[in-house]
Amino acid sequence: MIVKAYSKSIHLEAMEMLLKRLSVDHPIYSKISNQIGTTRAGDIGEEMVFRELEKMKLPFKYYVFHKLLLFAENAFELDILLITPFGAIILEVKNFSGILEFTGNPSQIIQHKESGEINKYPCPAAQLNEYKYQLLQFFNDQNIPIPIYGAVVFASRKSFVKITSDKAEILYRNEVSPFLRKFQKLKPTLTEEDMEKIKDILLQKNTPFAYFPLSKHFSIQSEDIIRGVECNRCGYLGMQKRNRTWYCPSCRKNDSSAYKNTITSYFLLCKDSITNKECRDFLLLSNRHEAKRILANSNLIKTGNNKSTIYKIKHSL
Ligand SMILES: [Zn+2]
Repeated sequence: MIVKAYSKSIHLEAMEMLLKRLSVDHPIYSKISNQIGTTRAGDIGEEMVFRELEKMKLPFKYYVFHKLLLFAENAFELDILLITPFGAIILEVKNFSGILEFTGNPSQIIQHKESGEINKYPCPAAQLNEYKYQLLQFFNDQNIPIPIYGAVVFASRKSFVKITSDKAEILYRNEVSPFLRKFQKLKPTLTEEDMEKIKDILLQKNTPFAYFPLSKHFSIQSEDIIRGVECNRCGYLGMQKRNRTWYCPSCRKNDSSAYKNTITSYFLLCKDSITNKECRDFLLLSNRHEAKRILANSNLIKTGNNKSTIYKIKHSL
């Protein structure tokens, strides 16, 4: 049963918002641009594997979660997690095409693309083992004894593992179901009630907002973030407030709700709370009554009164 369905990563969306608001010569611009490419490819791989899991029928009860961000010794993010009567199973998904070689000491993976391009990445087997360790700590903190298993899954049909790793189970996408079916040979260690309890804890402890705001995550000064309301037709930053609408001086579009995405950008990029003044600064707005109206219409949690009023975002962004 799918408990937490596949969804596009909000982290990716936030990085795209950030890139639009950084000048191209900012020292971190190319790093973020590269990360967007890797995350986008990763998302596609996870979606492919997740679709297989949706079609799959296993001979035992199981729960599937896409993308859980949890805390143990540090924050860790699991691509796909299954809870079964036999324990927890982590699937660490990679969407690498080409010839792949695992190396040891130091552990990494080398990708030889058809184009001749060679890339190296952190070893997914070592990554998986770290997540298994973190998840074990997480369950220890909750007083839940549970065996933890896992596999690295290569999602792309264009991936060819030439040198494998003995540090973890390495699978192609079509091997996921047979791998999971093998667990029924083990002795169950969790009852249905245990599984139910674990499911609730995982959903409750999932904190997708731990990455944000991104300026903190990437150590970017807030003044380096370009301000202004974004035009959703041409991407121009700095739409002007005119009567009841926002006007784009670049493409001349009027859009009365243009500020909404910009408020979301503020929370994902700058800070987890906003005051009237911060709103005016970010939206390049001079009128405090306008800012007040905008904040009141943005579905935020309001605390304090008058000048000390601050607004926070609700978790269902
Ligand atoms: Zn425009």
